[in-house]
Amino acid sequence: MSEIAYLPIKSRSLYQNVSDEDFGNHFWQDKNSVVRIQQLEALLKDVISPEALEDMRGGITKSGMSIRLNPYVLSLIDWRNVYGDPVRRQFLPMASELEDDHPYLAVDSLGEQHTSPVPGLVHRYPDKVLFLVTSVCPVYCQYCTRSYAVGQDTAVVQKANVTSAQNWTAAFEYIRANAQIEDVVVSGGDISRLKPANIRLLVNTLLDIPHIKRIRLATKAISVLPQKVTSDTEWFAAIVEVVKRGREMFKDVCVHTHFNHPNEVTPAVEAAMRKLHAEGIYVRNQAVLLRGVNDDSRTLIALVKALGRVNIHPYYVYLCDMVTATEHFRLPLATAQRLEKEVRGATAGFNTPLFVCDAPGGGGKRDVHSAEFYDDSYGISGFRSPSVDPNRIYHYFDPIRALDTVAQEAWRMPGAKERILANLGFAPMAAEAAE
Ligand SMILES: *Cc1c(COP(=O)(O)O)cnc(C)c1O
Ligand code: SF4
Repeated sequence: MSEIAYLPIKSRSLYQNVSDEDFGNHFWQDKNSVVRIQQLEALLKDVISPEALEDMRGGITKSGMSIRLNPYVLSLIDWRNVYGDPVRRQFLPMASELEDDHPYLAVDSLGEQHTSPVPGLVHRYPDKVLFLVTSVCPVYCQYCTRSYAVGQDTAVVQKANVTSAQNWTAAFEYIRANAQIEDVVVSGGDISRLKPANIRLLVNTLLDIPHIKRIRLATKAISVLPQKVTSDTEWFAAIVEVVKRGREMFKDVCVHTHFNHPNEVTPAVEAAMRKLHAEGIYVRNQAVLLRGVNDDSRTLIALVKALGRVNIHPYYVYLCDMVTATEHFRLPLATAQRLEKEVRGATAGFNTPLFVCDAPGGGGKRDVHSAEFYDDSYGISGFRSPSVDPNRIYHYFDPIRALDTVAQEAWRMPGAKERILANLGFAPMAAEAAE
C-alpha cells in the first residue's frame, strides 16, 4: 500500500515486447484481453506457481462472473504478491478465498428485475431511472451487483437477457410518458462498449425529452481502460459532443466511473482525465467497499486523495451488495460505519464520499449511519427509505464470518430472518407482516 498518488505500472514485463503505441491503444488492449483460464496459464506460467494457477482455475468455476482482463489491468497486478494484490482480487477469483454464501444472498439482490416497467429500465425512485443499455464491460468485476445480467454465463449464474439496443425504444417511450422523471443513469454494462453513433442516438434522444434534466453516463473504462479516452478519438468525440449539447440546453450530462484502490490511479488515468477535464466533463466515482481490497482507512484515504488530484469527484462508497458468490468480499455494517468516520476530514468535504448501503430488495442507497436498528451479534440491520416505500424496512445482513457460532447456526435454520428479528424484538412493519 502506498502513500504516493501514482504507482508505476509494476509488471509491464508481461508485455515487454509490446510497443508503447500498441500498449496505449484501446483496440490492442481489447483484442489482447484474457477471457479463458488457458490464456492466463500461457501468460503466467513462469510468473506464479502452478498451485496459484490451479487456485484460479477453481475460483473461475465457482464465480458468478466471467473473467475478462486486458493487458493494462494485468500489468497493474503485482504477481509476486498474487494473493495480496488488491487489483487481482477484484477481477480474478481464487477458490481458496471464496466463502459459503450467507443464506440470504441472491442473484438479483437489489430486486432490479422487479422494479423494471420495461426490460432494461429500473424505476425505483420517483424522479430518476436506471437505464441498462448494454450487458458488456471492458473487464468483469467479480463482485458485480448486476451479475444476473452482466457478462457471459458462468457455471453458477445464467445471465438474464435484459439489455440490448432493441429494448431502447420501449425505454424511451416509458421515459417520455412519465414527466416526473428528470434524471437518467445510463449504465449496464459499460457505455465504453457502445458505438459512437449509439451514444449520440441515446443521449440526444434523452436530451430531446423536455423533462429530462440530468444524464449520467457510467463507464469503468477510465479506471480499467483509460486508453479508450486517449486513443479512441471517435468515441471520445461523441462523448464531448453530447456533453456540450447538454450544456447548451442548460442540462447536465456527466460521467460516472468506478475506482476502488489507489493503485488504479495511474499516469494513464491522469492522461485520460486531462482530456476529459479540458473539455469540461465532470467525472464522479462510485467505489465498492471490498474485503482485502480497500477495507482499511489508509487505503480509502489514499484513494480519495488520488482521485481528487486527477479531478475525479468521490461520490459514493457502497457496502458490497448481498449478491450470490460474493460472501468473501462482504463486510459488516459496523466496518463501513467505522471507516466512514476515519475517512471524513482527511480531505475536502466535497471530495469525501458518502458511505451507503444499497438496501437489499430495492430500498435504494441509504447512509450507513442511518440504520433504524442494528444488532451486530446477529449482523442484522434495518433501513427505512420513505421516498421509495414509507411502509417498509429493508434489511442488510453482515457476512457470516463476522458472527459467533451461535448466530451462524441461527442463520442456517429455515425462516431464520423472521425468527431472529422477532427474538431481537425488531417487529416487522405492518406492510411486511402482510406480505
Ligand atoms: C443508484 C440508482 C440511481 C441513482 O441514485 P443516486 O443516489 O441519485 O446516485 C437511480 N436508480 C437506481 C435504480 C439506482 O440503483
Ligand atoms: S464495470 Fe460495473 S457493471 Fe461491469 S462488471 Fe464491473 S461492476 Fe459490473
